[in-house]
Amino acid sequence: MKLLFTFSTLFLLNILFIQIKAQENPDYIEISENLYVISNTNGGNVAFLVTKKGIVVVDAGGTPENGERIVSIIKSVSDKPIKYLILTHFHGDHINGISGFPDNVKIIAHEDLAENYMQFSRDKLNNYISNVLPGYLVNLKLQMGSMKNKESEEYLELKKDYEINQDYYDDVQNIKFREPDITFDDFYRFRISDERIMLEYTGPGHTNDNILVKFSNHNVIHIGDLVFNKSFPYTIEEHGVDIYNWVKTLDDLKKENIFTVIPGHGEVGPKIILQEQSEYFKSLAQKVERLKKQGLNLDQIIAKCDIKDYDLIGNEEQFPENIKVIYNQLTTSKVEWWEF
Ligand SMILES: [Zn+2]
Repeated sequence: MKLLFTFSTLFLLNILFIQIKAQENPDYIEISENLYVISNTNGGNVAFLVTKKGIVVVDAGGTPENGERIVSIIKSVSDKPIKYLILTHFHGDHINGISGFPDNVKIIAHEDLAENYMQFSRDKLNNYISNVLPGYLVNLKLQMGSMKNKESEEYLELKKDYEINQDYYDDVQNIKFREPDITFDDFYRFRISDERIMLEYTGPGHTNDNILVKFSNHNVIHIGDLVFNKSFPYTIEEHGVDIYNWVKTLDDLKKENIFTVIPGHGEVGPKIILQEQSEYFKSLAQKVERLKKQGLNLDQIIAKCDIKDYDLIGNEEQFPENIKVIYNQLTTSKVEWWEF
């Protein structure tokens, strides 16, 4: 897995417009009868349910090319039409593949998704495509031009980086957002063939538009980015993150009859991965609250929290962000974390 940009100022872009170009062959697994998951390395995990009357897909992948790839995988499994595309939240790694889907697919999402896209993603994406990425490519070209030894490992590394980014540039220029056809605030239920699908918004968590997708006949849930299985979760304050409600949502779900959880990122797992995500936040929040009560400021608290206490790999740069959002939420609310 290779990051297209290594400089830290672009970390946020990672979540808005997936920039990881990894294996070209995301595979699929059947996790329940006619219910499949594509472990998508070019965006969030994708689920699809095949019914007699058509196919329901959850999340669209991170780029148009990735969306096309997802559709071709689905077509290799079934020739039924793709009827519905459910979007778990507005982050680009879950929605930028929309243009790869058939035009007549009905998109379903939370009522705030389109507005979030306009507010947080559209201008940044345009700037990224018009300025940031071309600038990066020009820079790489200049570096390559200044190197005498065109056989050196360093040159070949730059060349590879250039080619990957050029492909990526060609791909992201085709990103086209589409307004959802069906939106809802708290619940949306529908049937297709003999399958029941239940969508639910339990309030802000990872974002202020993250929904749960329950495949009721299968006791399977696609939980979007409310679970980052075995990696550090993304917590972006301006996108409406709410750790307290995030934990509450996960804890409430523990009471439900769920066998399998499809996380936004990481491997599909049993119900316990809900608890693991919740325990991470609880343990970190209790630590932050204890240190805050001792009078430490945010920077001191970040310095005192040891990332090695957590058995997670990936998105390490989010660890201080996780602490920051907890600290800020503790400051603005009267929540006692150990009440959970
Ligand atoms: Zn996300």
